Amino acid sequence: MIDLKDLAENPEKYRASQRAREADEQLVDRVLTADAERRSALAEFESLRAEQKAFGKKVAQASGEEKQALLEGVKQLASQVKTAEAAANKAQEQRDEIAASFPNVIIDGIPTGGEDDFAVLKTVGTPRDFSAEGFEPRDHLELGEILGAIDMERGAKVSGSRFYFLKGVGARLEMALINMGMDLALRNGFEPIITPTLVRPQTMRGTGFDVEHDDEIYRLEKDDLYLVGTSEVALAGYHADEILDLSGGPLKYAGYSTCYRREAGSAGKDTRGIIRVHQFNKLEMFIYCQQEQAEELHEQLLAWEEEMLQSLGLAYRVIDTAAGDLGTSAARKFDCEAWVPTQGTYRELTSTSNCTTFQARRLNVRERVSDAEGKSKGTRSVATLNGTLATTRWLVAILETHQNADGSVTIPEVLRPYMGGMEKLEPIQR
Ligand code: AMP
Repeated sequence: MIDLKDLAENPEKYRASQRAREADEQLVDRVLTADAERRSALAEFESLRAEQKAFGKKVAQASGEEKQALLEGVKQLASQVKTAEAAANKAQEQRDEIAASFPNVIIDGIPTGGEDDFAVLKTVGTPRDFSAEGFEPRDHLELGEILGAIDMERGAKVSGSRFYFLKGVGARLEMALINMGMDLALRNGFEPIITPTLVRPQTMRGTGFDVEHDDEIYRLEKDDLYLVGTSEVALAGYHADEILDLSGGPLKYAGYSTCYRREAGSAGKDTRGIIRVHQFNKLEMFIYCQQEQAEELHEQLLAWEEEMLQSLGLAYRVIDTAAGDLGTSAARKFDCEAWVPTQGTYRELTSTSNCTTFQARRLNVRERVSDAEGKSKGTRSVATLNGTLATTRWLVAILETHQNADGSVTIPEVLRPYMGGMEKLEPIQR
């Protein structure tokens, strides 16, 4: 939820944000109109209520015929108050609904435009030149099959397209990657946490998902529960309706969960292998912090993601996502895209978003504030951030980048301790 007071004071900032997102600029005025209507309906209700009270006193003091006449008026007023109350409630609901549809206000200076308008902030590492090495790289699925690591066919048999089995060294590699990421998170003060993957509608909405219209989300109708597409949802909901003590620094969680995505709009895209699947695993960093710390921590989340990518020997670039390609909750988003040799292009492996106070307002996560003398000044919203440390998709870049001509894959050194010291994945069939 945006800050409605700020919107009323700085409507132009919100109009500019909407323009940068290529979204409806007039939403600003609709929120302002709905808020004015809410205030006037509330004022009408309160004034009628005051009149009703005063009238009540008059009636109490009257007697006989005068009282009878006044009682007629009481009835009329009561009905007017009831109507005004209903109107005030409706106006409040309408204002809340419009305000809830307003995406987060972007951070000034990020690229404007849509999916293709990102800015490349940096490129790290050099894509491996297989032609110089004299062999044609195999794609991750071919490698996965000859290593006995990925089984798409049986995935499809059991669950349908975009499902798969990770087995043998594939299963081990994924666990190694997640454990390595978890160790990085632990070294940096994150608390490990395994989250629920089914959440209530209010948690989904609070995190910024439009549950009624979002085709990406799996829903369990009978139970009114949603399957999360990321543990960010459960982690954002974790402290809902709480007042946090951030005096000792930000709260940092490293959440592990399975993620489910319908990929409804992706027909025909990435149909081969595990790059775009309905179910994958993810290690996600999630931070609750003070508003002023959010931008610096966002850079820090990106740095941890980069540390992970670099230690695995992957070539990648960092992009600053354009406003129109941000999710509803994000004010800024950096993606790390790793080089996928057989695609000859960079593909997104991580994503880190600064959601400023947007999610915290919706989920009512606050902190106490006090003045310089320590006198309480009430509460205010905290900020939330999230960032990917590892997902199943990382196997694609690792397998393809570190493959050898004979179909084996050299395990990056940092992963070896998590693979029982194994140095290479060897083909089980050719
Ligand atoms: P997102 O939460 O959409 O930013 O995604 C975070 C990360 O999850 C991406 O950077 C990918 O590594 C991974 N990911 C997203 N969607 C899929 C998918 N359908 N299949 C496999 N991995 C995915």
